[in-house]
Amino acid sequence: MAKIWESTSLHLDLLRSKVVAVVGYGNQGRAQALNLRDRGIDVRIGNPADVYATKAGDDGFVVRGVQDAVDGADLTLLLVPDEIQPNLYETQLVSVLSPGQTLVFASGYNVAFGYIKPPPELDVVLVAPRMIGKGVRELLLQGKGFPVLVGVANNATGKALDTALALAAAIGADLPGGCAIESSFKEEAIIDLFTEHTWAPATVFLMKMCCEMLIEAGVSPEAAILETYASGELGEIGRAMAELGLVGQMRLHSRTSQFGHLLWGSRYVTESVRVIMREALQKIEDGTFAEMWRREQEQGLAQFEAMWQDLLAEPIFDHEERLYKRLGRRSSRDSSRVEEPD
Ligand code: NDP
Repeated sequence: MAKIWESTSLHLDLLRSKVVAVVGYGNQGRAQALNLRDRGIDVRIGNPADVYATKAGDDGFVVRGVQDAVDGADLTLLLVPDEIQPNLYETQLVSVLSPGQTLVFASGYNVAFGYIKPPPELDVVLVAPRMIGKGVRELLLQGKGFPVLVGVANNATGKALDTALALAAAIGADLPGGCAIESSFKEEAIIDLFTEHTWAPATVFLMKMCCEMLIEAGVSPEAAILETYASGELGEIGRAMAELGLVGQMRLHSRTSQFGHLLWGSRYVTESVRVIMREALQKIEDGTFAEMWRREQEQGLAQFEAMWQDLLAEPIFDHEERLYKRLGRRSSRDSSRVEEPD
């Protein structure tokens, strides 16, 4: 059994006299920086001067260059996208990080697959909220917590785990509903990627196929798309799963619906699906996927962009675009390029 620290056993006191540098002011960076400041922690933001830096300034932070923020800080939270981290680490962090400092990741990816190899004199910890940045911020404002995976890669000071737990507490895991769960960089990277390669894309692509099948069967595209995903019911089901259990939530549906779920559900769990998922898991565990993704980025994301274009060219997205325009929403074709802060 993994060790779990309940919210009531987590304390942020260890961070009281520390300076925390938050590098990156995106989804996680903004949420964690605001939470830490609200909890009385001394926070510095490090970000190049651009739209994210402006956002941090609007939120009342003094924004510094990355090196200036990290130099002399006790903890550095590396909260830029995983694909940016190795280069940023080499070019800007290595020269300013000093022995005894703690380098914090919110994702295990780069350390687990060897793209960042911090020296043994640094404490290196994982504090990975199981929550999107928006949720990290909104839950704290409601006085609620969320689960955080913690792990230690380097323990130079002998206090790396205590620091990770204090940070988990400070961003919100010490509030009701929160907790910290013992993990590791490798485990976090594997479970994160496994989700991203298996049930999450399977759900999206099966929903697309279901819309196409309903339209072929004579259902209007509007009704098919609203029924399958556009109503937002899926979000409600997800929340109910978290509260009532994976299949416990089925009790909230009609008996007719429950009977349908029970009759058909397990028939989709076939050996051919397991074979695909085992292949995905193996390619994650042996580093094949990480290497494919590194090469793809090195080659300018040509395949990535082509895959996006092919997908969005499919007729189902003509229907979605028309419907979402009428509903005053941003469709898949509009949304795919939006990467600015809220
Ligand atoms: P974002 O894409 O939201 O990060 C954007 C931030 O990174 C901006 O401040 C951006 O500034 C900065 N950035 C990008 N490129 C550079 C650069 N070259 N130099 C300096 N700053 C740069 O990232 P996320 O918050 O999504 O992810 C951060 C970490 O958190 C990752 O490790 C991720 O895996 C992890 N994580 C994310 C979750 C989420 O909810 N998204 C959930 C749990 C963990 P600018 O581009 O303006 O320079």
